[in-house]
Amino acid sequence: MARKEHDVLIVGSGHSGGMAANILTQKGISCLMLDAGPEMDYERDRTTKAVHELPYRGFNKPGRLPHVIQANEFNANQWVDEQEVPYTHNADTQYNWVRVRLVGGRSHFWARQSFRLSDYEFKAAEIDGGGDNWPISLADLAPYYSRVEDIFKVSGRKEGWPQFPDGNFVESTFSPDSETIKRFTEVANQRGIGVSKMRSSRGQNGLASSINLLLPDALATGKLDIVSNAIVRQLGVDKNTGLLNGAHFVERHSRREMQVKAKVVVLAAGSLESTRLLLNSGIANSSGVMGHYLMDQIYGVSVVASVAEARDRKARPGLMGGSAFVPRFRNLKKTEKNNFIKGYCLNVSSGGGAAPRFFAAYGEELEKKLESYAGSCVTGSIYGERVARFENHVRINKDVVDAWGIPALHVDFRDSDNERNLAKDAADTLEELFRASGWEILSKTDRCFPPGRSIHEQGTCRMGDNPKTSVLNKWNQSHDIKNLYVVDASAFVTCGWQNPTMTILSLSMRASEHLAEQMRQGTI
Ligand SMILES: Cc1cc2nc3c(=O)[nH]c(=O)nc-3n(C[C@H](O)[C@H](O)[C@H](O)COP(=O)(O)OP(=O)(O)OC[C@H]3O[C@@H](n4cnc5c(N)ncnc54)[C@H](O)[C@@H]3O)c2cc1C
Repeated sequence: MARKEHDVLIVGSGHSGGMAANILTQKGISCLMLDAGPEMDYERDRTTKAVHELPYRGFNKPGRLPHVIQANEFNANQWVDEQEVPYTHNADTQYNWVRVRLVGGRSHFWARQSFRLSDYEFKAAEIDGGGDNWPISLADLAPYYSRVEDIFKVSGRKEGWPQFPDGNFVESTFSPDSETIKRFTEVANQRGIGVSKMRSSRGQNGLASSINLLLPDALATGKLDIVSNAIVRQLGVDKNTGLLNGAHFVERHSRREMQVKAKVVVLAAGSLESTRLLLNSGIANSSGVMGHYLMDQIYGVSVVASVAEARDRKARPGLMGGSAFVPRFRNLKKTEKNNFIKGYCLNVSSGGGAAPRFFAAYGEELEKKLESYAGSCVTGSIYGERVARFENHVRINKDVVDAWGIPALHVDFRDSDNERNLAKDAADTLEELFRASGWEILSKTDRCFPPGRSIHEQGTCRMGDNPKTSVLNKWNQSHDIKNLYVVDASAFVTCGWQNPTMTILSLSMRASEHLAEQMRQGTI
């Protein structure tokens, strides 16, 4: 590592940290990036093995990653080891914290679904009183979304719907809808529900990550040093000025304790790790709201139906296949009365098979059922919004430390009737739409997965105009310490039903340009 004082220390190298490095270095600002994980080499770190060579035949080794439903034997090493970096949650309410520690963070693995938030989320207090307004609106963030969409090559169909703001999409062609998707669209439209297409980042060669879209340009400036395996345990404060002056970190393998100096700190360690670091440092929390208003999206609700004409492999060409995406359609008008506020989207795909659990059968009879229903299914799932609540929070659990002696987080999160009622409405709506399409319902669940499962944790350092009720100002800058910026999703005030990464990237871009300007003017 170069032994020099950098202008800016960036903690974390995922989407949020990568964007900060990209912007700051191209403005001539020298940056040091510390990341807790190793660099990943796609050639070196992957092997091809047949399923029968794996001791658990591809399933997750029991007990190894109990909170990571996504883990299996094919990807087990990409997730943070829960023994090495533990966290705790209430005994009666689970929280699934799904983490990646690698240079590039989660950007290696995300599913690339790419949405803007709308003013239904930015101005939530005005819409339904569920949560506070953000200190910014869509108009403030729109130019940054456009630039991010350009870098990430987002594809999508423009609709002109206020709850589903259009973006700066690459030219996108969607193959003609299958008969089943057309039927679903017709039935939804009859009920006033608009049907669109998924929006996603194409990136380059199938990868839309920090390591291929953001960090290369930053490294090319010669202004960025990246240090992997560097776990930041505490931020350093100058006792005379109250400003940050760097950080203490531990080298992952040797456990050597080290220190770095910097004029500014940008935190981009992912919502909960950034918050953990701030809480462990005991700073920037004069409001007392740090750690509070934790959110993520409701996943788990799904309905599966079968199209009779497609059974026994008799589907005519064009009947099955393809997908539809239904952005939020509930509670868009103040006159609409439901037993919940907020909304959800529907993600519908046609042409899959049935799961064994759908049938009260086993052995040969079950085999026949599965064969008969293969390719005949239409599946609908949802992403729903959770309301931001003060009670849902993280705090430090001093009784538990990680492998490097850093105190762990405790997560205290409970769903309310709003989440349960929203989930029930979503399952009932999907069922009704599928039945009206003429399909047989095979399975319906209105149970939400445990919070955290969406891997979209947000909040805990929320932004706002009032330093008494928020941690950051509208530029992602700490109200308390002007040379501290937090650019990940911890800044979010509401979470929406939309996957968060386009908003994380846009906020990080906007915050980094603000920081660069403050540094140019000499106010930081
Ligand atoms: C399987 C999967 C699918 C997903 N699909 C989507 C999707 O379709 N659409 C969408 O919008 N989002 C999706 N997401 C979520 C998306 O990946 C995240 O929102 C986004 O990548 C978060 O970026 P980040 O930079 O804030 O955090 P991260 O990517 O988590 O990066 C944080 C970095 O900080 C480092 N770090 C943590 N603690 C420390 C410390 N103490 N010291 C030093 N470094 C530290 C970590 O090693 C990590 O590299 C998905 C995620 C996963 C895993």
